[in-house]
Amino acid sequence: MKQSTLITKTRKDISAQEQSINAQLLERAGFISKLMAGVFTYLPLGYRVLTKIENIVRESMDELGAQEMLMPSLQPKEPWVKTGRWDTVDVLYKIKAGDKDLCLGPTHEEVITPLVTHYISSYKDLPKAIYQIQTKFRNEARPKSGLLRGREFRMKDLYSFHATQEDLDTYYDRVKDMYVRMFERCGLGDITYFTYAAGGTFSKYSHEFQTISKHGEDTIFVCKPCKIGINHEIIKELTACPECKSTNLEEQKSIEVGNIFKLSNKFSKPFSLAYRDNKDEEHDVLMGCYGLGTSRLVGAIVEALHDDKGMIWPDTVAPYQIHLLSLAKNDETQEKAHDLYKHLQKHGYEVLYDDRTVRPGQKFADADLIGLPVRLVISDKTIEQNMVEFKQRTEQEAALYTMQELESALAKTLRS
Ligand code: ATP
Ligand code: MG
Repeated sequence: MKQSTLITKTRKDISAQEQSINAQLLERAGFISKLMAGVFTYLPLGYRVLTKIENIVRESMDELGAQEMLMPSLQPKEPWVKTGRWDTVDVLYKIKAGDKDLCLGPTHEEVITPLVTHYISSYKDLPKAIYQIQTKFRNEARPKSGLLRGREFRMKDLYSFHATQEDLDTYYDRVKDMYVRMFERCGLGDITYFTYAAGGTFSKYSHEFQTISKHGEDTIFVCKPCKIGINHEIIKELTACPECKSTNLEEQKSIEVGNIFKLSNKFSKPFSLAYRDNKDEEHDVLMGCYGLGTSRLVGAIVEALHDDKGMIWPDTVAPYQIHLLSLAKNDETQEKAHDLYKHLQKHGYEVLYDDRTVRPGQKFADADLIGLPVRLVISDKTIEQNMVEFKQRTEQEAALYTMQELESALAKTLRS
């Protein structure tokens, strides 16, 4: 992508109103734009990040044998009355449409549970797993944390359906392991903790995935050696690490990036989602639900990976892998830069090519702010020596490479 044709520019004029680091950096760099509190446009650069994250999630869900579909955001009142949640979910957006009451989906148990009654009636129909990646609506009281807390935001929600507790338990553990891998692939593996939390309906706990972050809204207590967290909400009932029993727990601020629950028959009961076993006896279907905030993840990555100059994207989710800066003053250098841009693209790299006619200082500052994993610089001086300057966003030092050295450096640096 030629930066001269990108619809966005970097901005300097927003930091005053935006308190959260992720919103500040993402807005300044032209990844997102705030429409109103908690509601954002994903601009081309930001949308590429979101899409990459959602594709990692999609691949992972498919690997679990779950099937993707898309449910509506606009929902009728009746199923919410049936589960008793019409009046208890305080973040529910309620809409009056003529004489009809509707809501905007904050989650989808009220849609998916009655839906699958059409397809599940026998033990032979189980197990099943269905997911979607979709826009959710919640009227959050204080949406002041940029993408971490939107009123309109993106979530992956997976629902699983089982005949037996054992089958639910086994599947739940497989999903858990897949979550660990997803957060690793998104570059947050080291700082994301499997965390015991309140909210299990028929199991004692639910489990969250919490990413350690100074400005997180949650507080957890972590057992570092076991890589396990305990949400502060339950620290009075769960006072030691459930694995090693240690009480040497460290208090940390964190961001909830995922939450998984065993729902048992909490939703299958009100919607009469049942199956007949091989003796023709009827039982409630057992359910699990597994949420992951894909847009919150964009914000969490920025909160975790940045410095005073800007963002530092892991190559797996960066909008582009390489930022190629042309500082050419003469036509020959400009041509060489253009050739390199074409050459890298031909070899499968995603390149943002800064071909703009702006000061070098501005190009360097923008490259640091946007934070792509590799920065390449071509100038009259590097071309004189037949070299290209190579620098990783995570490193302080740049190096001069021949074309051949460049190719092996790129292959080594960019995994994806
Ligand atoms: P929180 O406690 O942060 O309000 P929650 O427990 O209500 O979140 P869940 O219902 O568990 O959220 O939703 C599943 C996932 O969706 C969360 O783990 C989080 O990653 C994401 N999520 C929830 N609310 C928001 C929001 N307002 N903005 C962005 N992502 C969200
Ligand atoms: Mg939660």
